[in-house]
Amino acid sequence: MAEDFFRGGVVVGVDIGGTKVAAGLVNREGAIQSQVRTPMPASGKPEDGLAAVFSAIDSVLEKEPRAKSSICGIGMCAPGPLDPHAGVVVNPPNLPCWRNFPLVAEVEKVYRVPVQLENDANAAALAEAQWGAGKDYHNVFYATIGTGIGAGWVIDKKIYNGRTGAAMEGGHVSIDYRGPRCNCGKPGCVEVLAAGPAIARRARAKLSTEGRRSEILTLAGGNLEAVTSEMVGKAYAAGDLIAKQVLIETVDLLALWLGNMIDLIEPDVMIIGGGAATMLNPLFPEIVRRLPGYCVNTRCLEIPLLKAFYGAESGIAGGAALCAKEFAAEVKV
Ligand SMILES: [Zn+2]
Repeated sequence: MAEDFFRGGVVVGVDIGGTKVAAGLVNREGAIQSQVRTPMPASGKPEDGLAAVFSAIDSVLEKEPRAKSSICGIGMCAPGPLDPHAGVVVNPPNLPCWRNFPLVAEVEKVYRVPVQLENDANAAALAEAQWGAGKDYHNVFYATIGTGIGAGWVIDKKIYNGRTGAAMEGGHVSIDYRGPRCNCGKPGCVEVLAAGPAIARRARAKLSTEGRRSEILTLAGGNLEAVTSEMVGKAYAAGDLIAKQVLIETVDLLALWLGNMIDLIEPDVMIIGGGAATMLNPLFPEIVRRLPGYCVNTRCLEIPLLKAFYGAESGIAGGAALCAKEFAAEVKV
């Protein structure tokens, strides 16, 4: 078993977030093993953040004696904005430790293998296109829905980056000119209207005005302020009416947004990942049903809407997917 895993080389996929660094060994088939997590001191000094990344990579390499001799690259993903071409983390709001930080150069210096960097949604999109739900399609649109909404567009296994690497900020596409202001400053971004916090906010509002008995409140221990989107998802699964209303409203907003995406890029497939993907999955048919009302493409119903293959490990797989060339270069039979 272990022999099969290492055949063709492995890369270390590194998922850098605002609170943790996760890393794992990934082989050329996109299988993951030896995952580790370490805390990320995101508001510390630049070198503290870097030390956390080294510590995650070292732990992965130490966990598996054969890893050091089989490693052909390190692929990292982090929240944007970052410059994937230069390998520089620019100024992400949730990684204040790094401002114009040359992360790729620092990691290459230590491990002496090719190192890649991308923003997390683009990287996750590539992993889905390469190994996951999108592997049989040319033109893949990916959305990650969780605390925020991210997007990625992969054409023939290549990420569409735009001019400077800042393309596909799909979560900050506005679907309501008069809508609430998003953290980014724009009005009515799909992120501020349909991501996890918006689901929780809408549920709280409904519960306070309608004051009905609801499974959501039971799950929150009676405390309105404690309501989360996960509780709404659980209550929906248990047949709760308010949870259903909240999720149907969310689904309607997502359908409007996905309709826009179809009119813009007409992908071969649309894939939804992220923390809310499992909760939204039973509602995919509801999203699809609404699409014809929200886009001009008369063949929009031919585009499959699929749940992502990778769940919580999408960042590790995403980082690793950036190293596809390194895998190819290492083929030894
Ligand atoms: Zn925004």
